Amino acid sequence: MNLLRNGSKDLIKELNRSIVINMVRLQGNLSRTEIAKETGLGLSTVTNIIDELIKAGLVSEIGTGDSNGGRKPVLLKFNGDFGIIAGLKIEPNQVKMCLSNLEGKILHKAHFSYTLKESNQLSTLIIEKLEHFIEHNVCASKLAGVGIATPGLTDRESNEVVYSPILKVDHGDLKPIGTHFNVPLIIDNDANVFALAEKWIGIGREYRNFIGITVGAGVGAGIVIDNMLFRGAFGGAGELGHITIQKGDRICYCGQRGCLELYASDAFLVNEVKRMVQVGTPTLLASDTPITPENIFLAAHKGDPYVQELLEKQGENLAIGIKSMIHLFNPEAVILGGEGMRGGDFLLKGIQKELAVHFFVKHPRKLQFHTSQLGDDVWLIGACALVVSNLFKVPIYK
Ligand SMILES: [Zn+2]
Repeated sequence: MNLLRNGSKDLIKELNRSIVINMVRLQGNLSRTEIAKETGLGLSTVTNIIDELIKAGLVSEIGTGDSNGGRKPVLLKFNGDFGIIAGLKIEPNQVKMCLSNLEGKILHKAHFSYTLKESNQLSTLIIEKLEHFIEHNVCASKLAGVGIATPGLTDRESNEVVYSPILKVDHGDLKPIGTHFNVPLIIDNDANVFALAEKWIGIGREYRNFIGITVGAGVGAGIVIDNMLFRGAFGGAGELGHITIQKGDRICYCGQRGCLELYASDAFLVNEVKRMVQVGTPTLLASDTPITPENIFLAAHKGDPYVQELLEKQGENLAIGIKSMIHLFNPEAVILGGEGMRGGDFLLKGIQKELAVHFFVKHPRKLQFHTSQLGDDVWLIGACALVVSNLFKVPIYK
């Protein structure tokens, strides 16, 4: 019993510290009294924790706020520059890197290419390039962690990319990166990373429950429930691209037939345009133009009605998957992102057409629908968010 009680005491202390730091970190400009009021903790507990945090350099006093007659309250701010995070995104043929502060402000960016042959030595390559990148730009001792976004199924315990057909990697071990830099390394799949970035500094801040949907080379979903990312048992929750939407004859690389990804990813667009060209449809892409997603988006924006219609169809297909997520999780909002969003209004038109009806339409609280505003940096920000959410996680489930 004693052991249990002592354990709880430490846990409660750690829990309180975590609650206070997250409040300062995520809300900012708060006084000790306001923190006590909002958290329900005693003022002396809050004062002790804040003193510790100020001493450690994580929080600073930034002047005084307005008072209601008494002494003016001293306002507190989280010191985002206390540490540096390296955020990486692994893509086929290239790795993007950034260094950010603890508040998601990107300070430096870089990228390097790699060949298919080098993909089995990815961790060695990343260590070499990242080391140079860090040394060149910041004080290496400030590095608080490395976060990596990658397509495919990842294992967070072993830091392994278990399976990624997009990267053509089977069992890519990234653990040596954390060992080399002697900091926490956290990897996750790019749809989860997207949702984390939105939750941290994007539109997702407004919602406790939302689904982030990514479309591009693949289709994925990051599920946020009660402000926490839901990863599932194997880290693969939200594999939206592989739900069956048609019992068709097309076979997916995952081995199943009729996966959503076959009808809503970049490959769908490329295959359909190739088919159009073959049957002589007078699309702008009928000439010698290589059929790539970029050229397809370009043709749509130049006014090619066949390609525009195709993008709308892609949107409708995608929305079948989005609807399943809506019905399973009843989120407050859906946030769309990914390179596939270059399909713009044509894609959105198809999505909106299909989403006009769903089970919850008559509910007085309307499901909100957004497109991510974080741009191409969303993945790097999310990779940094992996580290930050781990550094400041509330230790409830220890
Ligand atoms: Zn599949």
